[in-house]
Amino acid sequence: MTEPLQHLLTESKRRDRSDILFEKRQAFDLPADLVYLDGNSLGPLTLAAKQRIEQVVSKEWGHDLIRSWNTANWIDLPVSVAEKIAPLIGAAPHQVICCDSISVNLFKLLAGALRQCLALTPVRRRIVTTVDNFPTDGYIAQGLADLLSEHDVKVDCVAETDIEQALSDDVAVLLLTEVNFRTGYRFDIQKITALAHQHNILVIWDLAHSAGVMPLSLDEWHVDFAVGCGYKYLNGGPGAPAFMYVAARHQAQFRQPLQGWMGHAKPFDFDATYQPQSGIKQSLAGTPGILSMAALDASLSVFDSVSVNQLYEKAMGLTEWFVELLEAHQLHTQFTNISPRQRAQRGAHVALAHEHAYAICQAWIADNVIADFRAPNILRVGFSPLFLRYEDVYIAVKKLHRIVTQQQYLNAEFNVKQGVT
Ligand SMILES: *Cc1c(COP(=O)(O)O)cnc(C)c1O
Repeated sequence: MTEPLQHLLTESKRRDRSDILFEKRQAFDLPADLVYLDGNSLGPLTLAAKQRIEQVVSKEWGHDLIRSWNTANWIDLPVSVAEKIAPLIGAAPHQVICCDSISVNLFKLLAGALRQCLALTPVRRRIVTTVDNFPTDGYIAQGLADLLSEHDVKVDCVAETDIEQALSDDVAVLLLTEVNFRTGYRFDIQKITALAHQHNILVIWDLAHSAGVMPLSLDEWHVDFAVGCGYKYLNGGPGAPAFMYVAARHQAQFRQPLQGWMGHAKPFDFDATYQPQSGIKQSLAGTPGILSMAALDASLSVFDSVSVNQLYEKAMGLTEWFVELLEAHQLHTQFTNISPRQRAQRGAHVALAHEHAYAICQAWIADNVIADFRAPNILRVGFSPLFLRYEDVYIAVKKLHRIVTQQQYLNAEFNVKQGVT
């Protein structure tokens, strides 16, 4: 088997030589011999973040202490980091803020959007989302609906294919994730947003599996609100803050309910009455986590001098090469690839269904290839374009082939479930 496929290794190397992003790998501190197919779950450590964290800890915190809120501009980080994210999502300045987690930011946006709708047209009381959305999105929507049960707010979870039919005049907010975390199915943001707007529905987009890899033009597509993740394709580190986008046209009326002091117009007046800051900064709640935010800030420098289109093209190239190599190794008969085949309909990961997906993933990890298992039976393989090589994809498939053909996944050690999968 290995011999006849030697030409595929040669071809992988040829693709690496013509990859304009190849040198970007040098910006990461990746363990040698590891193939990391999980940059969509936790982006790897960048050298810039490593250095920056050391400096923040020893100098800014250790030596300068509280002075650093001013001298190191800690206080401005939620805005300055957001200004680096804005070009990656097609947002003009003053519409993005970096803070909290996606879950918390979704609560702010959903509540703010609902308040806007209920004030204008009290008949609009439904939040529509997908059954297969990332669970936190549904949980947050349900929690908010429970809180607003007196207003009869309801959450409707519908199938991805039924979204267009679900858009009607009693819907207040549509909450969707562009790229499905499990299957990789991708919504057309521009098209769905336009359809929703025909019914005066406000739309919130979750860009967790998009920011830093999918081409996004939020302003041009008239997106209302969005959230995105700092620790996935943006490589901000474990638990890095998320970001939120509020379109300029909504900012005058938009009010979110987590009225913390950091969103106050004059936080250091310590006034007993809440007075929101104008603009995007009123979406802040409490004190930012500076260590995490500094790491994200530093990691974003990796995006200097690359365009999102280049990242997207390479991610698609890696994804398609993976699928081609699976076929060349006859692995497509062993797994069911549940990701859409059409390039325009998917994101930068591939979902392979297999009865033993969990154990296969563990066996792959034991062999230095890290991917994700997603319940109930999915092996999720992510193609982060900044550091992955075509040769990595070749190595990963070769190892997967051995695990599957020799049924290594049946070993008991690969079948023990861990807390985080
Ligand atoms: C990863 C992910 C999240 C994470 O939410 P946090 O609150 O930041 O932990 C949310 N939504 C989607 C679609 C995700 O993939």
